[in-house]
Amino acid sequence: MTRYVIVGTGVTGIAAIGALRTLDRSAEITLVGDDPHGFYSRPGLAYYLDRELPEKQLTIFSKEDWKPLNIRYVRGLATRLDPQKHQLEIGPAGILTYDRLLLATGSTAVLLNIPGADLKGVVKLDDLEDTRRIISLARRARSAVVVGGGIIAVELVEGLLAQGLKVHYFLRGERYWPNVLDEKESRLLEHRLAEDGVMLHFHTEAAEVLGKRGKVVGIRTTQGETIRCEIVAVGIGVKPRMELAQAAGLATERGILADETMQTSDPDIFAAGDVAQVRDPVSGKSFIDTLWHPAREKGLIAASNMTGMRKTYNRKVAVNVLRLAGVMTTIVGAVGSGVDEDLVSVARGSSETWQQLPNTISLESTADVNHVRLMIGEQTLLGAMVMGEQKLSLPLQELISSKVDITPVRHLLQPGAPLGQIVMDFWSNIRG
Ligand SMILES: Cc1cc2nc3c(=O)[nH]c(=O)nc-3n(C[C@H](O)[C@H](O)[C@H](O)COP(=O)(O)OP(=O)(O)OC[C@H]3O[C@@H](n4cnc5c(N)ncnc54)[C@H](O)[C@@H]3O)c2cc1C
Repeated sequence: MTRYVIVGTGVTGIAAIGALRTLDRSAEITLVGDDPHGFYSRPGLAYYLDRELPEKQLTIFSKEDWKPLNIRYVRGLATRLDPQKHQLEIGPAGILTYDRLLLATGSTAVLLNIPGADLKGVVKLDDLEDTRRIISLARRARSAVVVGGGIIAVELVEGLLAQGLKVHYFLRGERYWPNVLDEKESRLLEHRLAEDGVMLHFHTEAAEVLGKRGKVVGIRTTQGETIRCEIVAVGIGVKPRMELAQAAGLATERGILADETMQTSDPDIFAAGDVAQVRDPVSGKSFIDTLWHPAREKGLIAASNMTGMRKTYNRKVAVNVLRLAGVMTTIVGAVGSGVDEDLVSVARGSSETWQQLPNTISLESTADVNHVRLMIGEQTLLGAMVMGEQKLSLPLQELISSKVDITPVRHLLQPGAPLGQIVMDFWSNIRG
């Protein structure tokens, strides 16, 4: 009987245990996790924070759903890994011996490194406990300051607004999320936030969180300005939870290095999801995605390969469809480049591949809040941004991910052309 141990109760770990049970009916499967709430929707936390979803809707499976899986669940923190002995130490629960191990430990928010960052009231948005903490603090708070960039910072801004707080948003640079959005897109979202009453502070950096009796009472900027607030919310990026792997001597870079089968530098240890930096066999480069669907897929691939099959992860074009500052937004493929001063590492809900912008022509058309930007390569579309009206979201996801040859319409894609109509007509034609 093969002994499989999976660390992490996120979507990667849960996808993996389901697949392992299907592939190996007699295996001993142990799932280890330190989140007291087990498995739930992490993207859903933002919608819980902004009062759209009740907490109970974050839970995806009921107790009954777990029974057929017949797994052993160990709640605790895995603290040490010994690849030679094939053993994993779990806090007080003891030692587990594995034949194959999956590290699906996800990522965690990078914290502020300034005086006062440990005061009560400085918050992040990683998990359900964080979300509950913010909601509880917001009951007694009047103002909040949000620091950071990417999706999470804006979700924190919107969530705190929905909790009834006055919200200040600090941006180090001159616009929001500059390595993914173009200037028009940044301005569109900033405008929406300002309309909702958010005070945007550009070229502003936090220098110190001010406290009284251990609690946040304000924040001081590097320019010496002081803003009173009871909450400082931080979304400056995430770092993979790879401490176990690093201490055990597995190969790591920005994440745990895994090949396209999710195998790490140790043949009996696999890594998948947010924690893994996965090799793309086509480009030979390896990337981190912090996206739900790729995490699930990598968990499934890892499970197959743990049972001795050989399945490879064919990197798909990274897609996120979400609501950002109230605007429905689809991000597909390579859309940006450069650095974002507001993020010190990869942002949650994104992909490192979004910033791998090759030689492209960028065309866009905007009508009110409806905006589309196409990144056009030699023969294919390489990336797209769709904001507002989402009719083009699916066609563009398909055209880009299937690398459809756009030669028949390439000459029509000119500045000022009705891009939306051209894409729709082309897509309808090729679908017959
Ligand atoms: C607020 C928010 C918004 C998001 N928005 C989007 C979005 O719009 N679109 C999108 O695609 N994705 C989004 N994401 C990202 C998405 O949720 C993640 O990519 C996905 O959850 C990654 O799954 P995972 O299983 O790899 O890691 P995780 O979900 O992070 O799970 C890892 C688990 O491992 C546990 N763990 C770690 N180390 C140990 C240890 N040593 N011992 C025991 N247990 C351990 C952790 O407690 C955790 O439960 C969002 C995430 C958040 C938090």
